[in-house]
Amino acid sequence: MTSLEPCPDCRALLPPADGPTHRYIGASSACWTLYSNLLNGGEPPLAPSPYNTLLVDAYAAQHPGVPSDQAIQSVAVHTLTLYGVLERGVGMERALWLRLRPLREQRTTKRGRFHWLIPPSFADTITIADIVALPTPAARSEKVKAYVEQVWGCWAQAHRGTIATWYAAYVLPDIL
Ligand SMILES: [Zn+2]
Repeated sequence: MTSLEPCPDCRALLPPADGPTHRYIGASSACWTLYSNLLNGGEPPLAPSPYNTLLVDAYAAQHPGVPSDQAIQSVAVHTLTLYGVLERGVGMERALWLRLRPLREQRTTKRGRFHWLIPPSFADTITIADIVALPTPAARSEKVKAYVEQVWGCWAQAHRGTIATWYAAYVLPDIL
């Protein structure tokens, strides 16, 4: 029997895999593979839902990795996107705008804008493994919605104040 290995970030217990991992997203190879397959329409594909758009943001936010410039920017961009849509009423169709906005040319260098936030615990949160365990497109989409909301809830509880400050400084202003 193969022993299961926890993903270092979401803690999903999965059979060890030797496949690819992401450069700065902190997932195990097995977790990353499940996610990539789901994102690429893996069987069965997700039923259409506006929340599917935020799957990438929730996954990156749930897998912050270890401190580096890229990991810091990734967590900032994806938590800002979740915050913008879920708390500030930005339309789901503008998620891409939200992702690009904080890193656009501004007076402050990209490195000077954000810092490492100690990630909240994701113990007992929904994982990609829970989503892909569901057999129907509708059930999977429903779970994605719960996943997105739960991952944001963890970050919000730990760092809403900082994320709101970043949003005011780097997302909202038109003239910089
Ligand atoms: Zn994971």
